[in-house]
Amino acid sequence: MKKELIINKYLPIKLLLVATSVAIFSCSSDSVSSDDDTTEELAEDSADEEAVTELHAAYAAFNTDATTIYLDGSNVVIETTGLPDHESVYWGEGNDLYREETEVALTPSIMSSNNNAVTITVDATPDLTGDSVDTNFDTIGIAVSGASIFNDQEGAGTLDDAATSLDWTGAHIGPGVYHYHLEPVAFSDDDSNLVGILLDGVFLYGRKCDSTSDYPDDLDVSGGHTSTTQYTDGEEEYHYHIINEEYSVPTSYGYSYLAFVGPYQGY
Ligand SMILES: [Zn+2]
Ligand SMILES: [Zn+2]
Repeated sequence: MKKELIINKYLPIKLLLVATSVAIFSCSSDSVSSDDDTTEELAEDSADEEAVTELHAAYAAFNTDATTIYLDGSNVVIETTGLPDHESVYWGEGNDLYREETEVALTPSIMSSNNNAVTITVDATPDLTGDSVDTNFDTIGIAVSGASIFNDQEGAGTLDDAATSLDWTGAHIGPGVYHYHLEPVAFSDDDSNLVGILLDGVFLYGRKCDSTSDYPDDLDVSGGHTSTTQYTDGEEEYHYHIINEEYSVPTSYGYSYLAFVGPYQGY
């Protein structure tokens, strides 16, 4: 059922693009969304194999200096330099975005000399019908800033021992790319802002939900639920939130919130 709701979201766009559909062009755009029977039938007919014709509106929130995002059939490809558009100590002294953070236990790498580039391919329409899938160490999603999102694992162990190396926005360079483990307060600080897209094609938002302007109280184990968001034009859609429970290990800046631990629901 959730899947159909997501498919329905794209239908008005698809329908508008079908020039042969005289009825649609002879009516106001209201007829597209108000004719529920037609919408339902088309949703079933369109199935998974039909290419999506429009990027989800939420992708407009991504940092265009870092990311190139495009449709490839029923997939969305996100290419990123991995270089975020906000300050961090990890830019290194002399960089315009360098931020002095003397309390951070710096890892050896500096962003401006590190290869942070990542490309991910996700379903344009997440498959919410199957089993949940655990997240792994490494990139689990791309944030709107262009940098990677990780879960609560660090190298072969847990994040706990590395937490003091996290910068003001919950990120560091561990092995590999610059990445967020915690609520990235540079662009989502106790609000409903879009945080990023995860590998299962489901969007991750801040601790609050746009549908209520408050902390959601109906989240599943992944931090997910189905409601409208600021990017769904009134349609309900499954999405994740940063779960509003403090991570038990403090950083140099105090306690924060894990960005996403999983499991994925969209694989
Ligand atoms: Zn890390
Ligand atoms: Zn929500």
